[in-house]
Amino acid sequence: MILPPATLGMLGGGQLGRFFVSAAHELGYKVWVLDPDPHSPAGLIADRHLVAAYDDYVALDTLGSECAAVTTEFENVPADTLDYLTKFIPVHPAASAVAVCQNRIAEKSFLADNGLPHGPFAAIRSEDDIRNANAGLFPAVLKVARFGYDGKGQARVADRDEAVAAFQHFKGEPCVLEKMLTLDFEVSVVLARDEAGNVRCFPTGENRHRNGILDVTIAPAQASACLRDNAQEIAECIADKLGYVGTLGVEFFVCRGELFVNEMAPRPHNSGHHTVDACDVSQYEQQVRALCGLPLAAPRQHSAAVMVNLLGELWYADGKGHGAYREPDWSVLHAVPGLRLHLYGKHHARPGRKMGHFTVTGDDPAAVLERALGARAAIGIRDE
Ligand code: ADP
Ligand code: MG
Repeated sequence: MILPPATLGMLGGGQLGRFFVSAAHELGYKVWVLDPDPHSPAGLIADRHLVAAYDDYVALDTLGSECAAVTTEFENVPADTLDYLTKFIPVHPAASAVAVCQNRIAEKSFLADNGLPHGPFAAIRSEDDIRNANAGLFPAVLKVARFGYDGKGQARVADRDEAVAAFQHFKGEPCVLEKMLTLDFEVSVVLARDEAGNVRCFPTGENRHRNGILDVTIAPAQASACLRDNAQEIAECIADKLGYVGTLGVEFFVCRGELFVNEMAPRPHNSGHHTVDACDVSQYEQQVRALCGLPLAAPRQHSAAVMVNLLGELWYADGKGHGAYREPDWSVLHAVPGLRLHLYGKHHARPGRKMGHFTVTGDDPAAVLERALGARAAIGIRDE
């Protein structure tokens, strides 16, 4: 067991890392963050911020010699970096698990090989692969295999010609071609798994997206207990097969009442932010516990919760990214009972950039949802 006042290493300095730093600090640990951005949200509150690239081996040597263990909040950390650090200290999750989650071809193949439910897809490495793809895949979504996030690196394509054009636009990068599914709704499961293989799931949440980016999470999901349990079972199976250690997010599509795994995130997940305010242990504390070999807590969600993401366009007068740049009127949110606001301290707001979120909690799920959607409208988030 790694105990305070040990120092933990965090690869990545985004908001997920920032909440990890807070959770680790509460438990008495120190945290060093590695992120090339001098203004990274986690770096700002870390005990030390190494401003360096993820493949800067001098910085990695420093982390490896000063930290007791290292984890990540950024799924595109090079697997080689994780492998390298393994020579010095425990690294959770392992490079092998992260490598599966950070490449959509590897991820989909993993699901297929393990008999886990997923939508129809084809791996695309050449234009010929598009020509040979099953006609039943169209209309489809072409997604770059690596480095896509928040709907970036994705193109909706009606037919083969559009898919070829999109593939060329992505400069021939390896892609997956996914059948466009008609979604009833989307859900996710956040869980933690320890080295002994114990798994603790948070309740299944329901996710609403806007322009390909998570907008609202309703927790627990407004779905049957059977579907919610089934999602947890599938997520647990994924964690087991990956030999995963740490906090893992699994996204699902629900299509005609059936679950299909969309993707996995080898880190805490945006849809688990509410665990800070609505559960007796957060997804970030579970990440600390798994990393340090502490017993995982059995999470109990004590309040219904709705989380709303605050994206950069909110900082612009028209609410869409145009017009005068100004700070949103936070007093509107602070007036809402049961609402907690979290701002990440990011330097500059760009449309689509995750700047903060708020969580509304309470006893009655319907009232919480109504209050959260009311606050969302009041701060200026509009549905086109
Ligand atoms: P990201 O890494 O950006 O989260 P996702 O693959 O999760 O990428 O896609 C973002 C969102 O786009 C999904 O949550 C879903 O709303 C929509 N989407 C993605 N793929 C499909 C699909 N095959 N069919 C229908 N909707 C999709
Ligand atoms: Mg996603």
